[in-house]
Formats: sequence, structure tokens, C-alpha cells
Amino acid sequence: MTGLAVAPRPTGASTPQLTVDLGAVARNTRTLAERAGGELMAVVKADGFGHGAVDVARTALAHGATRLGVTSLAEAFALRDAGLVVPVLSWLNPVDADFPTAAARDVELAVPSAAHLAALTAAPGRIRVHLHVDAGMARDGAEPGEWAALCRAARRAEQRGQVEVVGVMGHLGCADDPADACNARGRTRFAWAVEVARAAGLRPRDRHLAATAATLTDPRTHHTMSRVGAGLVGIDPSRTTALEPAMTLTAPLVQVRRVRAGTPVGYGHDHRTTGATHLGLVPVGYADGLPRVASGRAEVLVRGARRPVAGRISMDQVVVDLGPEGAEVGETVTLFGPGRSGEPTVAEWAAWAGTIEHELVTGIGARVARRTRAVPHLRSVDAAGSS
Ligand SMILES: *Cc1c(COP(=O)(O)O)cnc(C)c1O
Repeated sequence: MTGLAVAPRPTGASTPQLTVDLGAVARNTRTLAERAGGELMAVVKADGFGHGAVDVARTALAHGATRLGVTSLAEAFALRDAGLVVPVLSWLNPVDADFPTAAARDVELAVPSAAHLAALTAAPGRIRVHLHVDAGMARDGAEPGEWAALCRAARRAEQRGQVEVVGVMGHLGCADDPADACNARGRTRFAWAVEVARAAGLRPRDRHLAATAATLTDPRTHHTMSRVGAGLVGIDPSRTTALEPAMTLTAPLVQVRRVRAGTPVGYGHDHRTTGATHLGLVPVGYADGLPRVASGRAEVLVRGARRPVAGRISMDQVVVDLGPEGAEVGETVTLFGPGRSGEPTVAEWAAWAGTIEHELVTGIGARVARRTRAVPHLRSVDAAGSS
């Protein structure tokens, strides 16, 4: 009890903190479910676009989604481990993925090639599959030249009792720009793929092409189901619909100093103060997901006002020009949020960094503390299924 240390009076959390607003996820899900013509699959890959896969999944299922989608089997198994029992589709796997466990845990699988089909049929059990056609991106899915043969092989496997072909899926490459002619070609390719599957004797009841952008802009893509990820967390790639961002990143000021005009700041002295001011130190950097390339453009919110990030974004920290009045150690800095209090949005950070919102929200570092704000009166989906 020396009395030497004067404890500042913090106004917020004492560490960098990511807050996920599940109420926003719930409202976004309802908006998307209203727009989708058919079922809604909540895509919770990449840890629910960085928002927490299980939290986003539970919230979406309680507010209009009926199924879940992920890329890898590991992501699918994590949902099962959490007690979620709705249909889960995994669509991006190597041919030697653990298909027997997928079958045992009732995970549906996308089949993009004959090699995948062969590997799947070697696994015991009758796996439910969605044949995946490349709708024109030259990315994942079967090429048109291979499609008919894949459908025939899948039909034979179905007759042998090795698989059940429950779906046909595709993905559009240009849906963020509804005017792009690539969309019409994708729709046509998908309709053709479904016809070829039917001609092969398959009866896929789930036919799904649309992700968030197409769900919001083009009913001709809706078929029987939409697969939406970005929209759940408030990102609309088509920029046509007001969705609610669900992430807020805050951090406390850990140091404040008064400096003279002309003070060089940070690595390389890229920035010099233009007048006498206060510099505040914020303990988040590019290891926590702030894009270093946004140095020189980025802003944050302190005491209700926008303040520029001064100098280069470091791995662990950034310096903020607090202006002549300054601020106190312990005060909360908002790096980004939904924008309702004037704080920068993820969309602004994405623009400063020359990237898309998806990259920001999936890139928040592991050492940032996470907390969720619950949906008011969230109905439990586990009650509908798991024990
Ligand atoms: C990521 C992904 C989605 C979800 O896309 P959003 O634009 O985030 O809604 C849908 N389908 C596939 C195949 C995907 O990879």
C-alpha cells in the first residue's frame, strides 16, 4: 500500500475485446429467411465468419434457418460436438477425408468429382450427398464436361445403396453485381445440371445455388434452398439491403502522452504530428486482425469522436492521435462496430485496406477476448433436437 500507483478509472474492459451481437444475427437471419424462396442454410464456415460458429448456428436456427453448411469435416464435427442435430453439409474436402466418420455422424457431403464419389462409396453406410456443379467460376465443383458421367456414377452408387443423392448445388461467381451477365450463365448452367441429374434417374430434392447476394437480389436463383453466410453477420455483398453488422472491437487506452508538433510516430517515422497533440496507445495490431495496409487511412472512435491512427499499424499496437484535449488511460477506444455511435464500420476498414468485409471479420486474432451479447428471448434449438 505505497500509494504510488494511481489507478486510472477505466471506462470499459481492461483488454481488447470482440463483442458479437447475436441479436443482429437473429434479425439478419429473419430478413434473409423472408427473402429466400425456400429453406435457409446457415453457412457457419470459418468459425461463423469469425463470429463463433456454434453461437451463429444456434441463433440462425432459432430465427429461420433450418440447416447448417460448412467447408471442412472438422467444422461439421464441431457442430455435432456442440449438440446440434439439424442437417449439416460439408462441401470442401480432400478425397482422403474421413468419410466413414462423416457417415457415422450424419454429415452430408458435397461431391465435386468422380474421385470423391469413389472415395465416399468405399466408406460404410449410406451417405447423403449433394452433387456439386461448377456454375462458372472454375473453382470448386465438377466441370460441365464431367457432369453427366458423375450423375450416372452417382445413380449407380445410389442403386447399390452406397449413397443417397439428396441435392444438387452450384455457386455463382458474380452475384455481388446483379447486372453482370455471368449470373445468367450461372443460372442456365445450374438448371442444365439439374436436368442432367434427373435424366440420369436422380431425384435431388435440395437444389441450391444462391448465397447471400443472390438470395437478396435474384429470386430466379432461389430454387429450394439458399446458403447464406455473410448476410447472417451483416455483410451484404450486393449492397442492396440494410443488414446489421454484428461485431464490435474495442480496446482500452494503455498509455497517453503529450507531444509537440513534428513528433515522429511509429516504425519508419511515416507520420509526424502536425501540431501539439496527445498520442494514445491502443494494444491491438495486425496480429489481432487490423490490416497493416490501412495505416495512414484508418480511424477509431474515442470519446465520441473519430481520431486518426497515427503512423504504421504494428503487430500488437497502434497509436491514435487524440487531439489537443487527449483522453485518459483506461478509456475505451472503438476500432469498429455497427456505426450507430459514429465508430468506423468493418466496411470502412475494408475500404481503407482495399479488401472486403469478409476478410476483416474472419481475421480477428486469437488473443482478442470474445464475448457475445445474447438475443433477447432466444428460443433454444437444442430442445428441438439434441438431448
Ligand atoms: C461461403 C459460401 C457460401 C456463403 O456465401 P455468402 O456470400 O457468405 O452468403 C455459400 N456457398 C458456398 C459454396 C460457399 O463457399
